[in-house]
Amino acid sequence: MPFTSEKINRLNDCLQSAGQIVITAHKSPDGDSVGSSLALYHYLIQEHDNVIICHPDKAPDFLHWMKGYDQIQTWEENREEVTRAMNDADVIFCLDYNAPGRIGQMDPLLGRAKATKVMIDHHRDPVSEFVDIMFSDPAICSTAQLIFELINARSDLFKLNDAISEAIYTGLITDTGSFRFSSVTPRTHEIAAYLIHKGLHHSRVHELIFDNNTENRIRLTSYAMLEKLVVKDEYKTAYVSLTLDEQARFSAKKGDTEGLVNKALALQGVQMAVFFKEADGLIKISFRSSGTIPVNDIARNHFSGGGHKNASGGKHVGSITEAIEKFVTILPKFVEENKVHFTA
Ligand code: 5GP
Ligand code: MN
Repeated sequence: MPFTSEKINRLNDCLQSAGQIVITAHKSPDGDSVGSSLALYHYLIQEHDNVIICHPDKAPDFLHWMKGYDQIQTWEENREEVTRAMNDADVIFCLDYNAPGRIGQMDPLLGRAKATKVMIDHHRDPVSEFVDIMFSDPAICSTAQLIFELINARSDLFKLNDAISEAIYTGLITDTGSFRFSSVTPRTHEIAAYLIHKGLHHSRVHELIFDNNTENRIRLTSYAMLEKLVVKDEYKTAYVSLTLDEQARFSAKKGDTEGLVNKALALQGVQMAVFFKEADGLIKISFRSSGTIPVNDIARNHFSGGGHKNASGGKHVGSITEAIEKFVTILPKFVEENKVHFTA
């Protein structure tokens, strides 16, 4: 548990004298980065007047219902305000990322900022140099769980309200596949139970996040599974790819391909799944695995990325065909080297 009293005291000292507080999170926000940002926001505004969330870019539509979402400033849409806030900040929280490059074009702003920088994160191999206070624990399923622990460590659980509870719960369920992944511990369920005891409508949050698909999204997913799924039985691996043209055919919006890779992983016998997505100028790659297969090794060693053992990502500069060929070429060696992790 990273919340030692020494570090909490240092944080308390910084917050006590802080004027402007900024909350940042990684590029291409997901349920955990938005959930942890909003949870921290709704907690801090109870004591502080100037708290602002500054994200590199907008979150997918399925997260826009969250209380306070419309308060989030993005570098993409409002550079002036984000620049002002980062320059004026006394404290900058760095949520759900372990290296400054993960906030994209906001990285130089963070580097120049005079603020005390506070990381709260659960990714492996955190870069400690860019922050002043580091709360990092890769064993914890989500940054949202760490936000709960922070509030608990400051003896502030009585400050939990609906907005905070929904935001924490959103982070918990989106980063754990709804409490499925091995990163879930009894503590995760204790926290969920605590939130429900306090009045959280958990089924409402699940519905808002998971039962809110557009027709286009359902058809895009179905197309990808029907036409684009490749199964490599001998390697217990499946992959899917979508070009820009294919995404355009279904008017794909941000977030529409989220979870696609997990559908490939859900195939009987498949223990590793990959999704190749053509974006502007590069191919984004998502890796997922079950058990102890370390897909973050492939992401790090071959695709300039990283992440968690069972969920990681990377990129390839070039065509989608090249990216797939590169993966297919390294696949036999990876499976051979990691055969103890592939179960019979
Ligand atoms: P996703 O497949 O959902 O985009 O990413 C899954 C996880 O992989 C993220 O939570 C993050 O930890 C990691 N990840 C994704 N893309 C990158 C990347 O470009 N670099 C690094 N270091 N990690 C990434
Ligand atoms: Mn996370």
